[in-house]
Amino acid sequence: VEHVLIVGAGLAGLRTAEELRRGGYTGELTLLGDENRAPYDRPPLSKQYVRGETDDTALRPAEFFDEQDIRLRLGIAATGVDTAARRVRLSDGTEAGYDALVIATGLRPRRIPGVPEVSGVHVLRSHTDAQALREQLGSARKAVIVGAGFIGCELAAGLRHRGLDVTLVEPQPTPLFAALDAEVGALVARLHESEGVELRCGVGVESLVTEGDSVSGVRLADGSVIDADLVVIGIGSVPVTDWLEGSGIPLAAPGDGGGVLTDETGHTIVPGVWAVGDVAAWPHAIGRNKRVEHWTNAGEQAQVLAAALLGVDRRSEVQVPYVWSDQYDMKIQVLGIPALADEVQIVEDKGRKFLAHYLRAGELVAVVGASMAGKVMKARAQLAVTLHPPATVG
Ligand code: FAD
Repeated sequence: VEHVLIVGAGLAGLRTAEELRRGGYTGELTLLGDENRAPYDRPPLSKQYVRGETDDTALRPAEFFDEQDIRLRLGIAATGVDTAARRVRLSDGTEAGYDALVIATGLRPRRIPGVPEVSGVHVLRSHTDAQALREQLGSARKAVIVGAGFIGCELAAGLRHRGLDVTLVEPQPTPLFAALDAEVGALVARLHESEGVELRCGVGVESLVTEGDSVSGVRLADGSVIDADLVVIGIGSVPVTDWLEGSGIPLAAPGDGGGVLTDETGHTIVPGVWAVGDVAAWPHAIGRNKRVEHWTNAGEQAQVLAAALLGVDRRSEVQVPYVWSDQYDMKIQVLGIPALADEVQIVEDKGRKFLAHYLRAGELVAVVGASMAGKVMKARAQLAVTLHPPATVG
């Protein structure tokens, strides 16, 4: 391999480039990104950045890319790929060749169909999104956050911190229902209510109410209207794979979450084409290929992929899946795979601290804690045994 082209200059793309150099790769290495910003970290955007506590989200200093001989090409999108000729078409009308192509294009936020693009309505995926949101916080008073997933919950905490009235709307019965189930969701609901968040669970959004070209509220499916001068839509994201249309690179079905289908090293069935991070549907412990939208996963996949590209097998080093979420003064930590569980036990509940065990046929498959880092991490060894490596699918 003499030229690796990585498309998507986010966390997974950057980590892949770093791991290739660390693994001794000396060939040409291009990291191509459509944003006009060098690789940055997304987790702070819904936390410290929105609270106004940091501006610095860069993952590496500017000189790093020269030092590592990584050619960083920003502000250019890949628009298509010819896998037979091993060439990627670019938005500036040129093409880039490759020996190995790594697809790391991440996700874009899902929008509510038919919702007009009026001022005061935000999504949060990119630094540009976060900047637009933060700029409006000085003048906004009443916020509605649509969707109580991790990002919606973190933003609710951040906007309360900034002194806004916050209503959190979620069609499921509790916050974090899809990720952590109703039992833990109820504890998270209690936390937000104790912080003055108005929770509206079990009801979806019907439409936005507008006044001129600004948002003035949200109409719910039960007919009620909540006034708002700021609305954030946090209803999940979809993988960025439209640029692969017609390339013959197999994708997972949209109903399965979509994304680029790979083996357990990130290789697709197309020679020389790999995928990593949020966009990649690797084999998963749930028994089929599935995308994972979390920070630690992106780095671990990058390690395995870069090694495999260089002919080294590092699959056995993959750790038990880990996710964190900061809300108020509380750190929620998820170790293992809650989606495998058929039973959730709340083991400890001390208000803002709690611990839950997720079991499948009586066997521990995940631990979730709030401000219980020691107890969560203690389960790592046991989880490593129960969650044996996933089999190859697809
Ligand atoms: P991305 O970071 O999305 O990078 C993909 C890049 O590819 C983007 O820059 C995109 O613009 C670019 N791109 C897309 N299409 C093209 C194209 N055609 N050509 C060129 N470039 C393209 N995870 C946690 O575990 N804990 C957290 O607390 C947490 N907080 C988060 C908070 C927020 C606000 C967000 C958005 C995510 C959070 N995550 C968190 C998830 C974590 O940030 C992601 O898992 C991680 O960013 C995935 O990296 P990625 O490189 O796969 O995708």
